[in-house]
Amino acid sequence: MFSKILIANRGEIALRIIRACRELGIRTVAVYSQADRNSLHVRFADEAICIGQAQSSNSYLSIPAIISAAEITDVEAIHPGYGFLAENSHFAEICESCQITFIGPTPENMKLMGDKMVARTNMQKAGLPIVPGSISTIKNKEEAIKTARRIGYPVIIKAAAGGGGKGMRICHNDISLISNLMVAQQEAEANFGKSDVYIEKYIEKPRHVEIQVLGDKTGHILHLGERDCSIQRRHQKLLEESPSPVVDQKLRKRLGDAAIKAAKSVNYVSAGTIEFLLDEHHNFYFMEMNTRIQVEHPVTEMVTGIDLIKEQIRIAAGERIHFTQDDVKVRGAAIECRINAEDFENNFMPSPGKIESLILPGGPGVRVDTHIYTGYQISPYYDSLVAKLITYGSDRQDAIRIMQRALSEFHIAPIKTTIPFHQKLLNNPLFLKSEISTHFVQELLQEEKGEGQ
Ligand code: ADP
Repeated sequence: MFSKILIANRGEIALRIIRACRELGIRTVAVYSQADRNSLHVRFADEAICIGQAQSSNSYLSIPAIISAAEITDVEAIHPGYGFLAENSHFAEICESCQITFIGPTPENMKLMGDKMVARTNMQKAGLPIVPGSISTIKNKEEAIKTARRIGYPVIIKAAAGGGGKGMRICHNDISLISNLMVAQQEAEANFGKSDVYIEKYIEKPRHVEIQVLGDKTGHILHLGERDCSIQRRHQKLLEESPSPVVDQKLRKRLGDAAIKAAKSVNYVSAGTIEFLLDEHHNFYFMEMNTRIQVEHPVTEMVTGIDLIKEQIRIAAGERIHFTQDDVKVRGAAIECRINAEDFENNFMPSPGKIESLILPGGPGVRVDTHIYTGYQISPYYDSLVAKLITYGSDRQDAIRIMQRALSEFHIAPIKTTIPFHQKLLNNPLFLKSEISTHFVQELLQEEKGEGQ
């Protein structure tokens, strides 16, 4: 096992990893930007090194700064968390060449799954159902129209290198397709440094269901059930739950088998997530694989009792996964609400600032993963996630009741957060029955607007 690990991240995930390390008896090194000097991850780690300015390109995304910090502190491994360099195969290669273990998949895994277009082709070859669409990058408008007409409208243009819900455009006819194609290519270039786009059939009213997988270096691969992430705004997840209310044992087995097939086809190592779209008839389609720990990993931890960060660390250290597929039992239900520093009443506008007063919820079935404290200054430089509120109950209804109770206790002031949004959501009859699709939040917000007029 490692004796010292550097955490190349900030915020709640840096704390989450430090906590796992402490429990495993591993020393930790935090890295921080000038804006994060007073952060909890700096305080909780055994050592801390400033790696640059507030802009992440000058700190958390700076490979030379992070590698230098790792060399100076003489760590054996780096955990990248999520975001920043977590899915950067070049970074993983550099770690390897410096004899530092990258706690995550192999660079090869990342290359095969990082580009969505490449992943689609590979997964189709592996026998997974994929969303009908183009099999290579769309070069021009003639090709775009041909593909769209073949698969039928509506279609979605996606950036091959896309992520974080960005770079997607829905088109209902030839005219909107042509006008969106160039914009999508430009957006892809601006956001991801690569203009490649492809076209997929736009699945109407789908649910987003994803499978957590784990693989070790001996080729042992298993899955930890599903998460339902259909509650999204602008393709970004706001609430996740496990198990999915619409996945029965039979469908879980089919999804799990498909996810394992996908992971095996690339000899996947570490924690990863295979994302699927599920249509109204329970057909599912491979969408993409995330080759990292996900924000929403706690709901899986709650229902399986398996600590995913510790598993990632053990796997990276060369240990075998010490349980089998049959040992993985999903018990009860868990829900996660992402609490963002955003003004829900004002179109989710970012609401940075200083936290003057804070009360965290507690009691049975409540877990709060957060880096904030009274006096903490929320920086405009990074994403707006301030806390993850996770509840666990004997079943979905129980987890919902605990979440409603926990949200009512949660107090963050004076900044605005998404807590009122979640309170509204958790009282909505359709959400309670889980009669929802990925469009649900948009429909809910439109309804609200209509009522306000
Ligand atoms: P990202 O990597 O940016 O998160 P994804 O490919 O995971 O992008 O898609 C994010 C979300 O966009 C999905 O959860 C889903 O709501 C929506 N989406 C993506 N592809 C399709 C599609 N073909 N049909 C309908 N919705 C889609």
